[in-house]
Amino acid sequence: MIGPAPEELVSLVTTDIAAITRGRSVAARDLEAAMDRGVGWVPANLALTPFDEIASPNPFGSAGDLRLIPDPAAKVRVTAIPDMSPLHFYHSDITSLDGRPWEGCVRSMLKAAVADLEAETGLRVVAAFEQEFQILGADWPAAPSFSLMAQRRADPFGPLLVAALREAGADPETFLPEYGRDQFEIVCGPAAALAAADRAVTIREVTRELAAQFGWRATFAPKTDPDGVGNGVHIHLSLADRDGRPVTFDPARPGRLSERAGAFAAGIVRHLPALTAITAPSVLSYMRLQPHHWAAAWTTLGEKDREATLRICPTSERPGHDPSRAFNMEFRAADATASPHLALALLIRAGLEGLRASLPQPPITRGDPADLTAADRAAQGIQRLPGSLHDALAALDADPVVKGWLSPTFLDCYLAMKRKEIEIVAGLDGHALCGRYAAVY
Ligand code: GLU
Ligand code: MG
Repeated sequence: MIGPAPEELVSLVTTDIAAITRGRSVAARDLEAAMDRGVGWVPANLALTPFDEIASPNPFGSAGDLRLIPDPAAKVRVTAIPDMSPLHFYHSDITSLDGRPWEGCVRSMLKAAVADLEAETGLRVVAAFEQEFQILGADWPAAPSFSLMAQRRADPFGPLLVAALREAGADPETFLPEYGRDQFEIVCGPAAALAAADRAVTIREVTRELAAQFGWRATFAPKTDPDGVGNGVHIHLSLADRDGRPVTFDPARPGRLSERAGAFAAGIVRHLPALTAITAPSVLSYMRLQPHHWAAAWTTLGEKDREATLRICPTSERPGHDPSRAFNMEFRAADATASPHLALALLIRAGLEGLRASLPQPPITRGDPADLTAADRAAQGIQRLPGSLHDALAALDADPVVKGWLSPTFLDCYLAMKRKEIEIVAGLDGHALCGRYAAVY
């Protein structure tokens, strides 16, 4: 090769309200200066739909300038992907030119929610994102769900993915072939809320890039086929005190949830219809959130039950094993069209609201709500989650508490962007809708 060697690039990235990771890059040798001053960013980028058309009008228009400032603690550098330059990026915060957090920065919104929870209650959230995805374009022979055969067809994708994610600091825990066609799941270890949300993004980016090296597309879209299985993002949550001691477990109480964890859960369940507009925020999300799909369809707290929107997870029952550290709740009504930072920020806000009001723990639903009569569901306070993005946005608009956690400008932009997204995909049939989202996510 003639000429200078290629220079490694470092990208300063933000993952926005469309859950798309965007940014600008500098040469690695210029990183030190960029760590301090960041790179430029544009407010109206927040109004970009997943399909690149921008919502117009939006609160920002052509005016204004921002900075993307890298978080030194959120470095990702992966060299394990063959034939690619290192995948090197920093999760970054968006600030105004004077360095203050920008009101449209979802990462800063998560930091603020974490800080408020800790200041008011002394509690911290420990979280882990469990993510499902499907491989498109692999042309594999069919293989049974969960089978070793299904996993080995993909080799050496699994070993490379685990190596790349470990190098990326994402602490991969389990890689498995899932129930759906060419579907896999990757689970990472628990971490403080901000690190957990960063990891969710890192996992998506690394997985997609590695799959592309095999000539496939890895998609985290909530559905790839109207008749197929959904790809969920399950957000595991537990509470710890300031010293990191777990405080979610209390074997004497219903579902073994401590009083504080019960109040936290109650805040989430109370605001579920509005929260889905943030955690399941695409038109396609609602093809997944259907009863009988293990994907969450009702405002319920369940114990070891995969139809529940908030599921109390099992722990090891072996003698001599302390269940308190691993004990957690799983929020199942999320998918990869949601910003992990914003979704987690609002789950924490909802939990904090429950703690503030000392809400009683919701009853634990037994059995599938779809099998109850409407009267029984009403008696137990079980509502259907919104059935479409349109209805979810209406539920958000109708919940003054949830709206109160968002700045008016941010909310305006969010609603404008989501309404534009609805307009862009209006009229597509189920298959075309899946295709549109699979191409982006
Ligand atoms: N694929 C299901 C979903 O859409 C989840 C299956 C599971 O429990 O892992 O969320
Ligand atoms: Mg799964």
